[in-house]
Amino acid sequence: MLLKKMEYIFAAIMLAALIFLLTNIYTDYRFDSRPVSIQVQAEIDAKEEKIIERIRFHYGIDFKVPLIISDKMPSNLYGAAVLEKQGRIKVYINKKRIKESFDYILDDVMAHEYAHALMFLRGHRSRSDGHTRAWQEICLNLGGSRCDRYVDHNDIVLGKMGF
Ligand SMILES: [Zn+2]
Repeated sequence: MLLKKMEYIFAAIMLAALIFLLTNIYTDYRFDSRPVSIQVQAEIDAKEEKIIERIRFHYGIDFKVPLIISDKMPSNLYGAAVLEKQGRIKVYINKKRIKESFDYILDDVMAHEYAHALMFLRGHRSRSDGHTRAWQEICLNLGGSRCDRYVDHNDIVLGKMGF
């Protein structure tokens, strides 16, 4: 009788553990596959608008490229600027990093990547054109708070369709 009771308890514990595990998997899955929240999207949109205004002010052009929030990027990247084979320019933000690094993405990463995008537009289209002085000047003009030249992000993607 006691043994039977132990079996029930054991089964109950196993069941609880299984439910706990599945709930966690589901939560992770939901975070990865759903669009960002309305508030996050609104803050990104507002920052994008500011950067576009600064580009207009400093360079006299209307420069709007697709801004894509992707969960398919490698985790070590916060963002990227992509120049596709057909010459299309896109800016990416890594959705996986939004949760813990949203301020950094808004204050640094967006201007950083838009500066790369603008460098693409100006014909600087090789990897060695990455974090040059010209790029840094643009990044600062776009309101980037660090615009560090000595970062090696691999955040310049050439000839690919993006993430
Ligand atoms: Zn970069």
